Amino acid sequence: MRRLFLAGNWKMNLVRSEALALAQGLVKEIGSATEVDLAVCPPFLYLEVVAAAVAGSTIKVGAQNMYFEDKGAFTGEVAGPMLADVGCTYVILGHSERRHVLGEADDLINKKLKAALACGLKPIFCVGELLEQREAGETEAVVRQQMEAGLAGVPVEGLAQVTIAYEPVWAIGTGRTATREQASAVHAYIREVIGGAYSPEAAEALTIQYGGSVKPENARELLADPQIDGALVGGASLKVESFTAIVGAGLEVAGGR
Ligand code: PEP
Repeated sequence: MRRLFLAGNWKMNLVRSEALALAQGLVKEIGSATEVDLAVCPPFLYLEVVAAAVAGSTIKVGAQNMYFEDKGAFTGEVAGPMLADVGCTYVILGHSERRHVLGEADDLINKKLKAALACGLKPIFCVGELLEQREAGETEAVVRQQMEAGLAGVPVEGLAQVTIAYEPVWAIGTGRTATREQASAVHAYIREVIGGAYSPEAAEALTIQYGGSVKPENARELLADPQIDGALVGGASLKVESFTAIVGAGLEVAGGR
């Protein structure tokens, strides 16, 4: 059975003292949970302080982005080996805000994903359609295209390190959540694409998170779905109580899925 994986994307929020307090609070509340996988993804600046705060707990740390070159004249960028060096296990790649606000294209995301794997980081690779694409019936085509481009050249051993996060753009930070049925259908489609491109075993083993306004009120229903292997949580990961409640929902359903 696939383990649930719950990750918090703190985005560009919190200052150092707040990030530290959140990390410490989470360690106290959920830092010894072993039945699910847990991660928090603070801004680059606070990776090290958060990694130190969660050390010894079951909470891992991820970054929200990286560059694909290991070093050199790339002013303002941060390299994968630097992230590994400060204690990151994961890196979020292809988040919709990187795609649609910062203009990242599929080929750049693909280079980053391969670079992350090369330095031992586990990518949380985000895909998802815009509202107009969903309304035009293009959800599957968009998700397939993002997956094919983002995973181009990634061998099956690399795929085994990748979590896919299905994040419909219209549900991110909007309070509007995909229904369990909507999320489950796209997750099943993602698995079908992976089954065709790799193997049925790879598809079965793949962890697929849902992201988009996950909150304590809807987490249980979403996480109970056998296609939904966890959540990438934005806004609700910024408070100890709400992320703890989401993890609690995951722990409740973990055995019975
Ligand atoms: C996200 O940051 O990936 C996200 C899904 O945000 P929110 O939970 O706030 O919609």
